[in-house]
Amino acid sequence: MFFDTHAHLDISPLRETESDVVARARAAGVGHILAVGIDLESSAAAIEIAHRHEGVYAAVGVHPHDAATLTPDALVELERLASCDKVVAIGEIGLDYYRDRCPRDLQQAAFRAQIRLARRCGLPVLIHDRDAHDDVLAILKDEGAPEVGGVLHCFSGDLAMAFEVVSMNFLVSIPGTVTYKNADTLAEVVRSLPLEKLLIETDSPYLAPIPHRGKPNEPSYVPLVAAKIAALKSVTAEDVGRVTSLNAKRLFRLPVDEAVRISYKIRNSLYLNLTNRCTNACVFCAKRHDFHVKGHLLQLADEPTVRAVLDEVGDPTRYDEVVFCGFGEPLLRLEEVKSIAKVLKEKGATIRINTDGLASLVHGRNVLPELSGLVDALSVSMNAGDAETYAKICPNRYGAASFPALIDFLREAPKHVPSVTATVVALPGLDTDAARRLAESIPGVTYRLRPYDEVG
Ligand code: SF4
Repeated sequence: MFFDTHAHLDISPLRETESDVVARARAAGVGHILAVGIDLESSAAAIEIAHRHEGVYAAVGVHPHDAATLTPDALVELERLASCDKVVAIGEIGLDYYRDRCPRDLQQAAFRAQIRLARRCGLPVLIHDRDAHDDVLAILKDEGAPEVGGVLHCFSGDLAMAFEVVSMNFLVSIPGTVTYKNADTLAEVVRSLPLEKLLIETDSPYLAPIPHRGKPNEPSYVPLVAAKIAALKSVTAEDVGRVTSLNAKRLFRLPVDEAVRISYKIRNSLYLNLTNRCTNACVFCAKRHDFHVKGHLLQLADEPTVRAVLDEVGDPTRYDEVVFCGFGEPLLRLEEVKSIAKVLKEKGATIRINTDGLASLVHGRNVLPELSGLVDALSVSMNAGDAETYAKICPNRYGAASFPALIDFLREAPKHVPSVTATVVALPGLDTDAARRLAESIPGVTYRLRPYDEVG
C-alpha cells in the first residue's frame, strides 16, 4: 500500500473527477492520500474531500504565494479549520523565492505565524521551499518547528541539506521529478538517506512522473515514484510503499499496523524473526529506538515455535532466500534454527543466517559442523578490527573473550558453510579499513560494509 503525502485534489482537473481520481488511486494500491490546501478556500475544500473518502486526510495552510492573505482574521479561521476532524498537518506553508509572487517579508511573517499555529495545534508542518533553503531552515529552527516535526515537500535541496533536515526531526518527500533524467541530486539524496526518512508524493496535478510528464498528475501515479526509489535503493516498490506509508502514518499521528511479524519479506527474501534476545548490546542497534525493520514490527511477545515458523514460510522456493535474522541473535535458538533449516532445505530453500558469530562461545562448543549442509550462507557481524573497539561497540557479558571467539568462528565457518561474509557497520569514527583488512585476511571470508542507520 502507498501513501501519497501531497496532492491538491481540489485543483482542476482533479476536482472535477474527484471520485474517479480516488478510485483509480485505490486500484493502484494507494490506500492513503493527503489532500493539501494552499489558502483558506482550498483548505476548507481539502477537508470536505477528506470527509468524503476513507483514507483521505487534509492539511490546511496558506501557501507563500498567498501569504498576503493571512490576516489576523484569516489566521483565526485557519486555526478553526485545523481543529477539524481529519486534519493531520499544517501546510502547505513556506517560502518561494523563485517566483517571488509575494514580498519576502510577508512570506516570512506568514510562515512564522503558521509554524506557531502548528505548535499550538500539535500538528506537523508541510514545507514548500523554492530557492529559499537557508531562510526556510533558519525560520524552522527559530520557531521551534522540530518540536512538531514535518516534511520538506518536493525536496529540492542537496544531500547536505537533506541530512540537516533529518537531524531536525523532519522527513524528506520525494516527488515524481525523481524519475526525470536530470534528477541526479535528488537521486543522490534518495540513495543516501535511510528509507525511514523518506516520504513519497505526487504534488498532483503538477509534476507528473515519467511516462506521464507534461500531463496532469494524480495520486494513482505515486507507485511510479516508489518504483524509481526502489531501483535507486535496491529494494522493491512494495518495500518503499510499506516503509514510507509507516513513516507518513507516524508523522501524521495516524494508527499503524501493530501486527508482530515472525516472518517478513524484504526484496524477495523472507526473513525469520525467532527471538529478540541478543548476546550483544550493540551501541548502534536500531531496536533501541524502534522495533520496526523496513516497516515490519518485530517486537515478539513470545518466541515462535518451530511449527509456527514453518507454517508461515510455506513454500520457501517462492523466495530468493530464507534468512534467520530479526532483532535478536538467531543462534541463541540453535536447535530450533537447525530444525527449521532442515525442513526448508529439504523443500529446496536457500538459507542464510545473520549472526553475531558468538554462538560457539555461548554454547560452549564449535557449533559450525552442526550447520553443515543446512545453511548456504553466513553473514557475521564483525563490526571492528580489534578486540578493544569491538568491546566498546558490541559490549556483552563475555568481555575480552568475545572478539577472539568471533574471529575463530569466522576462520572455522568456511569449512562448513559455502558463503561467509564478515560485515561491518559504518559507524561514524570507526576505522573500517582495519576491519576490512582483518576480514580479508581470513581465508574464505568476504567483507561487506553496511550503512550506518539503515537496517534490513
Ligand atoms: S546483535 Fe543485532 S539485534 Fe542484537 S544488539 Fe546487536 S545489532 Fe541489535
